[in-house]
Amino acid sequence: MAILEKKTYKGLTEETAIQLVKELELFPVHAELTAREIGDGNLNYVFRIASEENSVIIKQALPYAKVVGESWPLTLKRAKIEADALVKHGEYVPAFVPKVFRTDEDLAITIMEDLSHLKIARTGLIEGEYYPNLAKHIGQYLAKTLFHTSDFALHPFEKKRLASAFSNPELCKITEDLVFTDPFFNIDTNDYEPELQSDVEEIWNHTELKIAAAKIKQSFLTEAEALLHGDLHTGSIFASEEETKVIDPEFAFYGPIGFDVGQFFAHLVFQVIVRKGEDREIIVNQIDEVWQEFYSVFSELWKSKGVDPFTKVDGYREVFLAKVFDDAIGVVGCELIRRTIGLSHVKDLDGIEDSAVRLKAKRAALSLGTNLILKKASIKTIKQFITTIEEFT
Ligand code: ADP
Ligand code: MG
Ligand code: MG
Ligand code: MG
Repeated sequence: MAILEKKTYKGLTEETAIQLVKELELFPVHAELTAREIGDGNLNYVFRIASEENSVIIKQALPYAKVVGESWPLTLKRAKIEADALVKHGEYVPAFVPKVFRTDEDLAITIMEDLSHLKIARTGLIEGEYYPNLAKHIGQYLAKTLFHTSDFALHPFEKKRLASAFSNPELCKITEDLVFTDPFFNIDTNDYEPELQSDVEEIWNHTELKIAAAKIKQSFLTEAEALLHGDLHTGSIFASEEETKVIDPEFAFYGPIGFDVGQFFAHLVFQVIVRKGEDREIIVNQIDEVWQEFYSVFSELWKSKGVDPFTKVDGYREVFLAKVFDDAIGVVGCELIRRTIGLSHVKDLDGIEDSAVRLKAKRAALSLGTNLILKKASIKTIKQFITTIEEFT
């Protein structure tokens, strides 16, 4: 029986992945096809199916997540959220997301454009590459996806319909725990080098810091401003010198705009921490450029497409964007801390071989993160943000 007709979930193999694309007639009938699983296998399968001329990617959600050696059940619905978010964001930024060819909710798959000619931005950045368009493109991606899905652009009925279609409680809970809660408490899934014990305890014992973090978490829990990507780190971005494509929006949901902005900032900050001299300046400038581009594109859209009467009130745009910036800075702080001592790390820091250099980088991430969370009210401009980064790294 045809794979799609079964209407039940079954993990694909390289053989059934080929069978599936044949059933869907995505390749000429007699094409010789090869398939290879290329994902990291933690949450999802990613198959690349290729003929001599053509190729596609099939991403399939697994019904569990393998974390710390155990597996925990994880809803397959995230595959539909991911597919729908790629399509929805694609309406506004077709150049910055992969084309989606087919999706199937029962099989929990998205069949999409193969982006293998590009490199995952984190990998390239760690290798010292420079992506001259990355900051501008992500600034535009953020402005367009977030403005167009917000109450500034949509009828309130359509906004609520989308917010409910993108309700994503299980994946949000992962973020609520891993980003906004666990690193601030002595929880056994935290993961840090023993040399950092006293730095970590300082965080756990810092009541003022915890109250400030709790407020940032509260914003994530309650502020349904726009359809977020929800996992916008440099490992979710394919890049080359010319192109930028954002993948992997399985954490998409209606949340605070500053979350996506702040997460992307944070992963540029990891590169600032690990780079030196001119290479470092390039990334510092990209942080500035992302914000300038986001600000100007969001502002243009606000003026030309704003539907809420308050968008016509002089000064409200600046006030709203200042709120987004404040939210973003808080998120940067939480993300720097959680990627250093929480469950899920980044290769930018963990990949540093010299342990003294690595620990110094991690301590910089922790103290900068702490400072941003505590002092975000006094950091009002991108220049002040950059000055603060320079001070701690
Ligand atoms: P996960 O949710 O498991 O992190 P991702 O969507 O990030 O899955 O994909 C995991 C890896 O699979 C990526 O880092 C990339 O190497 C590969 N991959 C994913 N989507 C594509 C694509 N459209 N084209 C080429 N490779 C892809
Ligand atoms: Mg992965
Ligand atoms: Mg991913
Ligand atoms: Mg993912």
